[in-house]
Amino acid sequence: HHAKRREKSICSYTQTMRHALQRRQRMTERLSAAITEDQLELYFQPQVNLTSGRLTGAEALCRWYDAEWGWVSPSEFIPLAEERGLIRILGDWVLKESARQLLAWRNQPRGGLPGRLSINISAQQFADPELPRHIAHLTAGVSPSAISLELTESDFMRDPDQAVEITHTMRQAGYALAIDDFGTGYSSLSYLRRFAADALKIDISFVREMLENKNDRTIVQTIIAMANALEMKTVAEGVETLNQANLLAEMGCNEAQGYWFGRPLPADKFAAVWLNT
Ligand code: C2E
Ligand code: MG
Ligand code: MG
Ligand code: MG
Repeated sequence: HHAKRREKSICSYTQTMRHALQRRQRMTERLSAAITEDQLELYFQPQVNLTSGRLTGAEALCRWYDAEWGWVSPSEFIPLAEERGLIRILGDWVLKESARQLLAWRNQPRGGLPGRLSINISAQQFADPELPRHIAHLTAGVSPSAISLELTESDFMRDPDQAVEITHTMRQAGYALAIDDFGTGYSSLSYLRRFAADALKIDISFVREMLENKNDRTIVQTIIAMANALEMKTVAEGVETLNQANLLAEMGCNEAQGYWFGRPLPADKFAAVWLNT
């Protein structure tokens, strides 16, 4: 009866696999429709200076509410979009909508978003040699000086030589560049220097336990020292407590993002809280 049990577990395994595949297939179809029918939404999370507490910018984060599934996490639909060839149209929508929002915010009492809006870019978008022109076209009316592009460290390292080239072109055009999820992507110091990025975003996984875990604290301190040496600024991700914020400020980290300062919000709420007074 062991054999029988094994048979049953193999059976339910293939069934689970089949369900997962079906869900991904249906999700691809629904995501594709959501993009073309303008059903995605951008949320905005504040970025603040750790010394002054002032708003230095915001990050645009894509949101998808599906009628059947409810909120689907970007950690699920962004990799799916990358895998199923939807990331370019999704990325185009994000760029266009970001620009529309930046222009709309200029009518706020305080006169728009200070600093830059950070926009996440996938490796496949970044691989396009026409990217600078493409972005300029999609964000017409918005100065490159109002935009920072975020690419994860692992995406940078997929084709580092190409990344070096594109980062220089983007910088020359006036865009800022940030290396996202830094500390998880195994880049070497020599590439880091050649990437010419403006900022390193310290990955949330090191920030999360930096008060309790000495190794994580050391990694954070090392990233800050490295960024200083390369004349890049540091932005800590996922700051959830005052103690984390204080320690990061003490360590010389420049900016932070996280629930302690503010959750990602829809555009109107973000403006009400952050752009009005
Ligand atoms: P990311 O670019 O590293 O964005 C930061 C993530 O951390 C966001 O997750 C944000 O909601 C979350 N976060 C911020 N503060 C805290 C905090 O204090 N605690 C915790 N636990 N989390 C915090 P989100 O919005 O779920 O996005 C996940 C990832 O999906 C992003 O990571 C980014 O890689 C990707 N993504 C989101 N929007 C886009 C987009 O428009 N285009 C592309 N290519 N990728 C996107
Ligand atoms: Mg990001
Ligand atoms: Mg990140
Ligand atoms: Mg991430």
